[in-house]
Amino acid sequence: MPKSITIVGGGLAGLTLGIGLRKKGIPVTVWESGCYPRHRVCGEFISGRGLRSLKRLGLLEGFQAAGSRTAQTAQFFSEKPLFPARPLPDPALCISRFAMDDFLACEFQHLGGDLHSGARWQGTFGESIVRATGRRAEPVAEGWRLFGLKIHAREVTLAADLEMHFVASGYVGLCQLPGSEVNICGLFRSATTVPDLAKTWNRWLSGAESSVLHSRIADAQFDNESFCSIAGISLTPKRAINQKECSIGDGLTMIPPVTGNGMSMAFESAEMAIEPLLSFSRGLASWAETQHEIARACDAAFTQRLRWAALIQKALFNQVASKILILIAAKSPWMWNSLFQRTR
Ligand SMILES: Cc1cc2nc3c(=O)[nH]c(=O)nc-3n(C[C@H](O)[C@H](O)[C@H](O)COP(=O)(O)OP(=O)(O)OC[C@H]3O[C@@H](n4cnc5c(N)ncnc54)[C@H](O)[C@@H]3O)c2cc1C
Repeated sequence: MPKSITIVGGGLAGLTLGIGLRKKGIPVTVWESGCYPRHRVCGEFISGRGLRSLKRLGLLEGFQAAGSRTAQTAQFFSEKPLFPARPLPDPALCISRFAMDDFLACEFQHLGGDLHSGARWQGTFGESIVRATGRRAEPVAEGWRLFGLKIHAREVTLAADLEMHFVASGYVGLCQLPGSEVNICGLFRSATTVPDLAKTWNRWLSGAESSVLHSRIADAQFDNESFCSIAGISLTPKRAINQKECSIGDGLTMIPPVTGNGMSMAFESAEMAIEPLLSFSRGLASWAETQHEIARACDAAFTQRLRWAALIQKALFNQVASKILILIAAKSPWMWNSLFQRTR
């Protein structure tokens, strides 16, 4: 009888791992404090190696059936367009978290997984327990408070499948979803706590009055039910090998959202954890060996990517560095492709 695995966190990483293990016949329990379906703060733009993980795990078709859209082009703005819409070096997938998390939860249960939703794990993290709890809240990052906002809207016309708008205190991504819906999601920083985000989100997400972003959103019909916000984000890269617990996804480390690669890392880390956990479950490896193997694979896959992403994130919050970076990317398609690939 294989040993069972407990996964704490039923987000993308936890459910993908749960599905992968169930496909191998391993008993799995997932604890999720929230309930499905639910909206999450996310740009809802999946790009990079995680798409290949989804394909190998047989989940890509399910995502397509749940309602996704292929993104082929991107355009960057800082009040005005920085360069015309460009083809993405590799196509990306846009799907709402409302649909995606729900699809994964249903798939996990369909495969015989034991899902405790609306149930917060209060226990410790020891043998056979995987942490997939998402970002670890840290109130102040380098003196700045980082927070994220997202809302869906209709009546927003885009010039590319993904538009990225740089604003004074952060950036806002506009991503075309199926059914004429657009996801509007931003990451911002503030030196002080920002109260009442539920009331002031429009001001943050709209940009300056003279900006293209402002005009894009001017006639938007917002889906207020989809609004969500998060604060206490830390983008300091972490190495898996230094962590006490067996962690995947944002629970391991968070990549700056500007890369649109966090979900990919959630899928990839989940996939990399399957074989080591299988060996543990069958009694072929100790927990220490299993945890070490997962951490080693994650660090090998993510360390360089995190380094590049941290550099880009830092540059974007510096007026001079951001201008240079954007100018280089605008002038040189090679550099644009290179930055895209290095953060994926
Ligand atoms: C502003 C912003 C924009 C982003 N845009 C993009 C983008 O466009 N593309 C992209 O790829 N990535 C993006 N990301 C990152 C992406 O959202 C995350 O990387 C991804 O959600 C990580 O998945 P996860 O499963 O690790 O964590 P989550 O999806 O956060 O799931 C963790 C789950 O664990 C649960 N949980 C936590 N603690 C417990 C507990 N004790 N007991 C039970 N359950 C618990 C939570 O309820 C949650 O459901 C963005 C992030 C931000 C902040």
